[in-house]
Amino acid sequence: MIDLHSHTNESDGTCSPAQLIEEAVRAGVRTLGITDHDTLKGYDQAVPIAAAAGVELVCGIELSTKLHGHSVHLLGYFLGNNGLGDFRTWVLDQQAARRDRNIRLVARLQELGFDITLEEAEARGRGMTGRPHFAQILVEKGYVKNLRQAFDEYLDESAKGYVFRQEPQFAEGVARIRKAGGIASMAHPVRVKGDVPALMPELADSGLNAIEAYHSDHTAADTELYLGLAEKYALKVTGGSDFHGAVKPGVMLGRGCNGNLRIPGDLLEKLRG
Ligand SMILES: [Zn+2]
Ligand SMILES: [Zn+2]
Repeated sequence: MIDLHSHTNESDGTCSPAQLIEEAVRAGVRTLGITDHDTLKGYDQAVPIAAAAGVELVCGIELSTKLHGHSVHLLGYFLGNNGLGDFRTWVLDQQAARRDRNIRLVARLQELGFDITLEEAEARGRGMTGRPHFAQILVEKGYVKNLRQAFDEYLDESAKGYVFRQEPQFAEGVARIRKAGGIASMAHPVRVKGDVPALMPELADSGLNAIEAYHSDHTAADTELYLGLAEKYALKVTGGSDFHGAVKPGVMLGRGCNGNLRIPGDLLEKLRG
């Protein structure tokens, strides 16, 4: 079995890299892509563990990007075919920008009179600490009634606690992945805000060369639609469960939700070809 979309606890999954490899062995996944959000740390740790366990590991990442003002996830695979150095530096720069925003956000929230620290937020969000973690703390400390209110009053772009963060545009993410020799694949297109078929010409022009047609969130009809787009725009096809461990207990590695994920056995071959 193949699963090219999974997360460790280096982003928002609950399994350590070693536990994820153990899970892959148990589930019968022979080829695994680790695609943590905006970091390669989980993949790096998993390399020797996967080799020892006989699991073929695909180097991957899931980048948070912006497309026409909306957040869009972009998968990168087989990174490093042209050397990973520049790409790693760029990923670390993005992490530094996120941390810098968080430092400014804490200062702003303290200014507004809240008892909140960066350490508290990072204990929840680790390397991908962001506004949802600050919102949770505001709720838990009774400053707001719920997450919605935390965003509406303090964290949304028009709210009084908001501080700006530079996020990469979709096209830049694509360019960085392609420059590193990788395949750039639009993640779970069903979740993209906007008309994906209508966006396709622009995205293909930007260098996007794959689409995640197989995903736990996709119905059979969704998968058909995205396979059709792949055909039309000469894109490669990727697929995976988006396994996160205990935070998404319904999603099984390799199998998706109730076995709805059926990734063809020759997907990897075609991806490489
Ligand atoms: Zn995603
Ligand atoms: Zn994901």
